[in-house]
Amino acid sequence: MPRPLEEQKVIQSAVKEKDELIVDGMDISGHWNRMFGQRVIFDYSVEYLEKVAALDGGESLGWCYGCAKCTGVCPIDIVGDYSPRKIHRRTQTGVDLFTSEDLWLCTTCMNCLRVCPKEVDMIQIMPAVRERAVLDGSVPDELQKAFEDTAKFGNPLGQPQRKRAAWAKNAEVPVPIMACLNGDGPADVLWYVGSYPSYHPRGIDASLAAARIFNALGVNFAILGKEEKDDGDTQRLAGETGLFEMLAEHNIEVFNKYEWGTLVVTGPHEYNAFNNEYSKLGFERPVLHYTQFLAERLHDLKPLLKESVEARVTFHDPCYLGRHNGEYDAPRELLRAIPGLELVEMGRCRENGYCCGGGGGGMWLDSFTQDHTRMRLSERRVREAVEYEADILAVCCPFEVSRFEDAAKSTGNDQLKVLDILELLDHSMQGGKR
Ligand code: SF4
Ligand code: SF4
Repeated sequence: MPRPLEEQKVIQSAVKEKDELIVDGMDISGHWNRMFGQRVIFDYSVEYLEKVAALDGGESLGWCYGCAKCTGVCPIDIVGDYSPRKIHRRTQTGVDLFTSEDLWLCTTCMNCLRVCPKEVDMIQIMPAVRERAVLDGSVPDELQKAFEDTAKFGNPLGQPQRKRAAWAKNAEVPVPIMACLNGDGPADVLWYVGSYPSYHPRGIDASLAAARIFNALGVNFAILGKEEKDDGDTQRLAGETGLFEMLAEHNIEVFNKYEWGTLVVTGPHEYNAFNNEYSKLGFERPVLHYTQFLAERLHDLKPLLKESVEARVTFHDPCYLGRHNGEYDAPRELLRAIPGLELVEMGRCRENGYCCGGGGGGMWLDSFTQDHTRMRLSERRVREAVEYEADILAVCCPFEVSRFEDAAKSTGNDQLKVLDILELLDHSMQGGKR
């Protein structure tokens, strides 16, 4: 039975005056003093939260009600101390996100948004705050270098633009360039190769494999060569909106210069950029990730897959193909088509796939992230693949091959091979010669 109101008031005033209070023989002073005392919870300012929420895209941080569902799925929290709930709370307690190191840790993997009942959207919040930090010149050095290289060379690797198609010389099959078609056009497929598949040695391996597969399938394709520049989407998510717009305008102009049917991309980040961001700038053409393009041609591809790949293979879902764009099946269909291959799923797969750490600018923040976490995300993922006794970790994002290969070495798991699905298909197609 609750005490009558008058009796409660008497007890309350007695507690305020006394350090100790015995009611009905029970010492309740400790509990009641804490109820009436000013607690630390009131000792915060909303100034920093309001600063974020005032930004276009930053509003939803203010909607958080602290349920912590996001904390359980955030890949950074698994190796560190991070999640939207924690960011929300820290801003309440006087942390300025605009200058905090927390600003650069989120990889925009979207796993938090998937589970958040209040739709707190880090994919909007982080780029909005980062954009302001970039304008203020407060950017980690390694990220700043990637921005500068992209602006100067058209790619974040700092490689010469004129050598963008140099890789194709080693393909041993024709790799036509749009500008050189000389009336042989239009091409059915415009293949946007991407920066890492054009310049990074392990990315080039996948490009060479793709060129051989397209040729074997009789695809009428062409690439842009030195006219192609980085898609810029990851720079946008890392806060460099101006750079993104510059690259998007360039690429759209080049896309529109030629006649072609379908745009096929090697990477999930480009897939996201062209489908969801370039469309806002007026570019609305069919775009397919290479796994989707090849899965649609499985009927023709299967007879070409001659050599058996006797291996236990697990697949890493790229955040920007899976969670961001809903494609989980096409890569798996391709892997299952390879004779002999045993596909095993890791615990964190499909919608709950674990981030490799490369998205949202993480690709160019490895040292920074390493300093603020117990383990790199790519290392956590490699350990998971090993826990599932995989021989091969299959990927279909050009960011991932080098990240996971480094992680396999640094965690002492050199026995784990990291291969793009293109490489696996090519290997089977070439009778195991590659
Ligand atoms: S899931 Fe959403 S509402 Fe819940 S704590 Fe995280 S951000 Fe806040
Ligand atoms: S987007 Fe991914 S990395 Fe960023 S806070 Fe959400 S779950 Fe964590």
